[in-house]
Amino acid sequence: MKEEGVIKFNCNWIKKEALPAEQVKELNNWRNKLYHEKLLGVTADGIGYGNISRRLKQNTFIISGSGTGRLKKLKPLHYSLVTSYSFHENALTAEGPVKASSESLTHAAIYECSPQTQFVFHVHHLYLWKNLLKLLPSTNSSIAYGTTAMAAEIFRLFKEHDLNKQGIFAMGGHEEGVISFGKTAAEAGQIILDKLKEL
Ligand SMILES: [Zn+2]
Repeated sequence: MKEEGVIKFNCNWIKKEALPAEQVKELNNWRNKLYHEKLLGVTADGIGYGNISRRLKQNTFIISGSGTGRLKKLKPLHYSLVTSYSFHENALTAEGPVKASSESLTHAAIYECSPQTQFVFHVHHLYLWKNLLKLLPSTNSSIAYGTTAMAAEIFRLFKEHDLNKQGIFAMGGHEEGVISFGKTAAEAGQIILDKLKEL
């Protein structure tokens, strides 16, 4: 059933061959580490969670494909290139062998707000999420993921806080949902692992 006020995510998918391996290599290395830590993967009900991306140029980015969370290893054919998007219409265009993740617009909002950011990781972890909610600025709990309001909420968060310094935040309305980002894949990934140790 469609929730009131929620516009369905619309992916204009242009089916193309896999991206060059070197463009996804670093991203995929970190994907393996995060999968190993169960920060992305699959729930007991078989639902894949977590997604990762890297900026290619300007506001285009490579992101893991929809439904790939359940796969143990990803190959270049499991990634897609987001070439354009509209926050207002909750829509995007992606080129590749798979559909882009339904959380792609959240990644897009971060690339727009933070020009220095080259990598964005979205992971799920209940304990980390609960603690980040208490400790650091987060997106509002009334805003669910996949809504047109989420991008606006991320813009607000970047405007009101020094998010580039923070490098990580919890999505208040998306249980377990945590986003990290950085100038390198190691920066985006390590902050998650460090916070897990620290908390
Ligand atoms: Zn999520």
